[in-house]
Amino acid sequence: MFHVKHFDVVVIGGGHAGVEAAAAAARMGAHTALVTLSAAGIGTMSCNPAIGGLGKGHLVREVDALDGIMGQAADRAGIQFRLLNRSKGPAVQGPRAQADRKLYRAAVQGLLAEHQGLDILEGEVVDLIFEGDVCRGVILGDGRTVRCAAVILTTGTFLNGIIHVGDQQRPGGRVGDPASEKLAHRLREVSPGRGRLKTGTPPRLDGRTIRWDALESQPGDADPVMFSFLSKAPFVRQVTCGITETNEQTHDIVRANLNRSAMYGGHIEGVGPRYCPSIEDKVVRFADKASHQVFLEPEGLDDDTIYPNGISSSLPVDVQEAYVRSIRGLEQAVILQPAYAIEYDFFDPRGLKSTLESATMAGLFLAGQINGTTGYEEAAAQGLVAGCNAAALALDRAGWVPTRRNSYMGVMLDDLLNRGVTEPYRMFTSRAEFRLALRADNADQRLTAIGIEHGLVRKERAAAWCRKSRALEHGRGVLEKASFTPHQLAQSGIKLSQDGIRRTALQLMALPEVSAAQILALVPEAAGINVEIRTQIGRDALYEQFLARANRDASAMEREELVLIPADFEYRDLPGLSKELQLKLDRLRPATLVAAGRIEGMTPAALALLLGRVRRHERSAVQ
Ligand code: FAD
Repeated sequence: MFHVKHFDVVVIGGGHAGVEAAAAAARMGAHTALVTLSAAGIGTMSCNPAIGGLGKGHLVREVDALDGIMGQAADRAGIQFRLLNRSKGPAVQGPRAQADRKLYRAAVQGLLAEHQGLDILEGEVVDLIFEGDVCRGVILGDGRTVRCAAVILTTGTFLNGIIHVGDQQRPGGRVGDPASEKLAHRLREVSPGRGRLKTGTPPRLDGRTIRWDALESQPGDADPVMFSFLSKAPFVRQVTCGITETNEQTHDIVRANLNRSAMYGGHIEGVGPRYCPSIEDKVVRFADKASHQVFLEPEGLDDDTIYPNGISSSLPVDVQEAYVRSIRGLEQAVILQPAYAIEYDFFDPRGLKSTLESATMAGLFLAGQINGTTGYEEAAAQGLVAGCNAAALALDRAGWVPTRRNSYMGVMLDDLLNRGVTEPYRMFTSRAEFRLALRADNADQRLTAIGIEHGLVRKERAAAWCRKSRALEHGRGVLEKASFTPHQLAQSGIKLSQDGIRRTALQLMALPEVSAAQILALVPEAAGINVEIRTQIGRDALYEQFLARANRDASAMEREELVLIPADFEYRDLPGLSKELQLKLDRLRPATLVAAGRIEGMTPAALALLLGRVRRHERSAVQ
């Protein structure tokens, strides 16, 4: 063994959690080492070449608001941008981008290189160094020892990873990468709460063998919305995706071969994500559906590889070929890389403190897939929080813990730490009770000042944020100063009730029937407010009116949390609750509303519904 160096923080893994953890720790001023199996593989997207989406896009914006890497990397590598739920309100809109895999990796590596005090070490961590119960460093496979004040584990799907294709199995962290076995063995010795989860990926197709002219095409948005608050427009050429769908023949092929699927043939013990079903799951669980959409997404600008989103599988290769070729446009498609499922170790996140430090092993933080989540964005957000707190521990400074009220990050951490996971956890907007306040568009307003206070935000972004917040304040001032009677408004063509109440221009901006042009006609000085700032003020004004009510509802819910649920409460056939939740509640029989709220899968809306039913039950018992 030979000594390499002493760092403040060592991060194990260069995936999405590890990258944000290392970058955040370095931004906080900690001398940080990122140890990973392959330096060239830093920022690899293991599965789909896309970032964001509903709920996930919110997380990316929050990471960006705290000066993290993911948003900027996705903007630099984005080859198609779409704002999901564009026709709905901003609270549930989710930015999403299709990324060029190579460009994404290069962008992540380039952005990491801009961080001072961050060293990259290539190698496999095989052991952790403990002094009593305190983690003090890591040992690499070649014998190097790296000592530090805090270690962050972000090993993703690599711990005891097993790749499955049909009845074939082999160890692997993802295709082309070895599994991390020695470290997994060591963790099994020292850490309680180990479990197995699984996930899967579709076959990759050769785009030159696809009949594109037979397919519907899906272009990106005409006015692309970027992830980063610092970006203005896409950096590279934009592309179109294709859409096709499975059919009865596809489903027959899958159904006839279910016993050959790793998942259905009983080869996998881990639990997979329900909401990201494989083609086998779709055929079994949604047997009444005659077809499922398949999105054909290019993996890069100079790459013919196509990611067929929607047909992940663990069937043998010959069956994959048959079902792929049964799909319109894919009749001659050549598979470049077969679909596979992977199962891996994770650790129960209920064994962590709110800083993501282990409750039993001081100095050891865990972030990303290892905590039972799935997805790049969920991993990145945890990485940032762990990096901040590990640096704080090492530098003896105050750390930061996000809350349910200020961020989706807080929602995720609270869910993981209190409810644990029984299946891979992914973010949905329905998980957040304050979703009207936690919008993707206002992540900087919610978090950047906090980031500046904790030293997470560098000078350039801090300066940009100060400019923006001053502009918002000034714009609101202009719009708040101008007020009008209903009579004056009627003269400008704005018909509101003649209640005699004066309304400010800011209040008018919240009304969908009042156009931007009408506001400008009423308040000519508003033309001096930058359009983006004006739009943001409009969004904030729109939600302002709902927020007070949402906060009241949330406070009422907090007061109600100790409400007792009768032991014989009838959950079955409770209208408005999913069958799955009804069965779970019936089985677990929580004693209070707070206990019900901790059940995995319970959403704020479901909890409110349950409260109403329990209250009704109480009233009928009294009568
Ligand atoms: P990873 O991105 O897996 O990164 C782990 C890092 O740790 C790697 O850099 C690795 O080299 C390094 N490492 C591991 N062990 C060691 C060691 N001992 N020493 C040094 N370095 C080490 N997500 C979805 O949202 N939807 C999906 O459909 C989906 N499907 C997937 C399918 C497959 C087959 C796989 C593999 C993943 C899939 N994912 C999916 C998950 C997604 O890839 C992860 O959620 C995300 O990458 C997790 O990020 P992470 O940083 O936790 O880990």
